[in-house]
Amino acid sequence: MNLADALPMPHRYRGRFAPSPTGRIHLGTARTALVAWWRARQAGGTFVLRIEDLDGPRVKAHATQQIIEDLRWLGLDWDEGPDVAGPHGPYLQSHRLSRYARALEHLQNAGAVFPCSCSRKELADLASAPHGGAGPVYPGTCRSGPAHPERPVAWRFRLDAPPAFSDVLRGPSPPGLGPGDFVVARADGVFAYQLAVVTDDAAMGITEVVRGDDLFDSTPRQLALFGALNEVPPAFLHVPMLLGPDGERLAKRHGATSLAELRERGLTAESIVGCLAASLGLAEVAAPCTAASLVPAFALSKLTTQPVRIDPGTLAAR
Ligand code: GLU
Repeated sequence: MNLADALPMPHRYRGRFAPSPTGRIHLGTARTALVAWWRARQAGGTFVLRIEDLDGPRVKAHATQQIIEDLRWLGLDWDEGPDVAGPHGPYLQSHRLSRYARALEHLQNAGAVFPCSCSRKELADLASAPHGGAGPVYPGTCRSGPAHPERPVAWRFRLDAPPAFSDVLRGPSPPGLGPGDFVVARADGVFAYQLAVVTDDAAMGITEVVRGDDLFDSTPRQLALFGALNEVPPAFLHVPMLLGPDGERLAKRHGATSLAELRERGLTAESIVGCLAASLGLAEVAAPCTAASLVPAFALSKLTTQPVRIDPGTLAAR
């Protein structure tokens, strides 16, 4: 039995799913959403849907509505969200800019951030050191003042030592994960994902973040931000990736992966839930079932800690 199964849930569990409206919900995102929803529903807690629509050019016009439709079709519901409102709204990040501005001001007053004039290209050229998914490690160029004061500046968080953490599913993180000063507000004035997500998880009282493990490296950064903002951090559970048959991260080239496409091909929500549940280790065979029917059976101790391969082609044939 996984230790976390035996521990009492936080007094009032508040979970969330926070997709970026850059396209339709695909199998990988649906799988993460299911785990987040099962955790919240099993704990008798609150489930929040938050739409992370800050990254202008990547945000697509009808994507929020489509995400809502796809998740509902899959059998999920939420207690707070853009379409149902709630006490911690608004639930679209683009409507929460004043909150991020206040958080940035707090960090500026605390001396936790510094203005940085480095361009992305300069940093990429400089980066000879190995780096993980979180990008090149910042070499510290502007720590004692912007190297090019004539340029518009970004605000960068000073991260001397990334905090260690224990993932709810995977246990202790490797030391030194996610190092380097990171951007919290871009030179064009757009607030960065790291600042927005922490400000919102704090303001919305989230007690556990469930998300894909492509964001594993971001967690130490976010923990450092929670600390600098004097907020209590949530627990973090990172769901292992879904891979294509070739072992690469599941993507369009592997076939139909969006719920919309699979639905058009005649797949039912139950067959997708069954298949995703099996891929997570929650069921031995991919027998069709509703999301709700798996709430009682969901257990962290059954959940796979490894990335799993799936062939969307065989799924569509089912
Ligand atoms: N909006 C992010 C994404 O869609 C997820 C953020 C999070 O869950 O922390 O990749």
